[in-house]
Amino acid sequence: MNLIRLIAIAVVIWLVVRIVKNHRGSSISAGSRRNGSDLHSMVKCARCGLHVPREEAVCKGGRCYCSREHADEG
Ligand SMILES: [Zn+2]
Repeated sequence: MNLIRLIAIAVVIWLVVRIVKNHRGSSISAGSRRNGSDLHSMVKCARCGLHVPREEAVCKGGRCYCSREHADEG
């Protein structure tokens, strides 16, 4: 009977550890996903405030703009 109780306790501990690990894992992956999206983030146009993908933005003098026109104006 003691062995069964021991196994039951071990299973409960394993389940708790698994749940905690899963919870941490999901929060970590969510955090890294947020960081990943920051790498491909939207940049705000310094002229009109429009958000455009970084790779589509026109950056000039350390500032990014939504279009070449705004880059020239800004
Ligand atoms: Zn703009």
